[in-house]
Amino acid sequence: MKLLVATRSSGKMAEIRQILGGVSGLEVVDLDEAGVQPSPEEDDLEPHGTFEENALSKARYFAKLTGLATVADDSGLEVDALGGAPGVLSKRFAPGDDLEGLERDHANNRYLVEKLAGVEPARRTARYVCVAALLEPGKEPLFFRGEAPGVVVSEPRGSGGFGYDPYIFDPQFGATFAEMSPAEKNARSHRGRAFTALAEALGRRRS
Ligand code: IMP
Repeated sequence: MKLLVATRSSGKMAEIRQILGGVSGLEVVDLDEAGVQPSPEEDDLEPHGTFEENALSKARYFAKLTGLATVADDSGLEVDALGGAPGVLSKRFAPGDDLEGLERDHANNRYLVEKLAGVEPARRTARYVCVAALLEPGKEPLFFRGEAPGVVVSEPRGSGGFGYDPYIFDPQFGATFAEMSPAEKNARSHRGRAFTALAEALGRRRS
């Protein structure tokens, strides 16, 4: 089975490839390999209020373009002291429409730390959420949700991962997500959990 993993994030793609690479008989292709050139339309694929709706919207768009079985994810960080924000708006949390890539990540992280200034450690609880939507031709979509609890710290730690990872401390593991190896992050992260559930579902079909 050929499966398009529809993301432009190299950080996400590396994590997802590591998990889906273990499913026998599955050929994973990314957007470049499927020949999908970036388009401004892609900026409007996540207008909804839930991770499920946004993941499905992305999967539908790329499945229609390619005709391939497609999985897309939507993910983000929910901070309890901010009423669950930034949630589905995590990618564009900090002001500054023109910011992209690492600059955007740094701005988001600075903004997060500012918003939580003065909040005591016990109230800095948060969770990463990821929903993967699988869309196959002629079938109903399937959803796989993963969550990973953490605490927002004010000083960055570690250089792995991407996005908010240097600021999200996993108390059970005793490190930020940026201090984990790729395998350690995949074993406990929101995306790791969602895509492991997807990998298991695909693996079960073959047994
Ligand atoms: P989207 O799923 O492409 O809408 O992006 C969600 C945003 O949430 C990303 O741009 C990151 O800022 C953040 N995010 C999602 N997953 C992670 C993660 O595993 N580590 C750090 N930040 C993440």
